[in-house]
Amino acid sequence: MSSIVLFGPPGAGKGTQAERITDSTGLPQISTGDMLRAAVKAGTETGLLAKTFMEAGQLVPDEVIIALIKDRITHPDAVDGVMFDGFPRTIPQAEALASITKVTHVIAIEVPDERIVGRICGRYSCAGCGSVYHDTFNPVGTDGCNCGNWEEKRRADDNEGTVMSRLGAYHEQTSPLAAWYETAGIFHRVNGDRAIDEITEDILAALN
Ligand SMILES: [Zn+2]
Repeated sequence: MSSIVLFGPPGAGKGTQAERITDSTGLPQISTGDMLRAAVKAGTETGLLAKTFMEAGQLVPDEVIIALIKDRITHPDAVDGVMFDGFPRTIPQAEALASITKVTHVIAIEVPDERIVGRICGRYSCAGCGSVYHDTFNPVGTDGCNCGNWEEKRRADDNEGTVMSRLGAYHEQTSPLAAWYETAGIFHRVNGDRAIDEITEDILAALN
């Protein structure tokens, strides 16, 4: 069994690439956030334990997350390995992960911060029909949206300050892990500032 880890900042198209990797490799995508919510809902022993931390507004400890992953990789669909998304977030988590599955590839989708800010900021949508527009890349026509119920809607957190602080948190969390995996010789940087198909091609090439 060999597993892969996928990193990527918000707005880098990680979700799309994760879906394509799953389609191409057959490795199921494992998001620890989804797993936690599922375990809490199912009322498992680990789920109940995790719930006490979540309800207290605390981070769920590494041991609990690791227990969830240990259980998850025994499922039949994980027999050939899994793809981790949003995990590990710290070196101790990476060390614990290494003790339960062999991570063979770590893929980091990289997009310059200013490009991400440009992509996320300037986004808006039509409240009438949900169509998405962008100030630079896809502005709405002078008569508004074709649906006839044009009303501009912008998300409050799609502003430059918020996006920059989310990116700062991402880099702070990821750079020690990148260094750690680079030492192991399994870290692959993929240029995410290109067409979606080209990014997929590079990721699949790195996995081979
Ligand atoms: Zn519309």
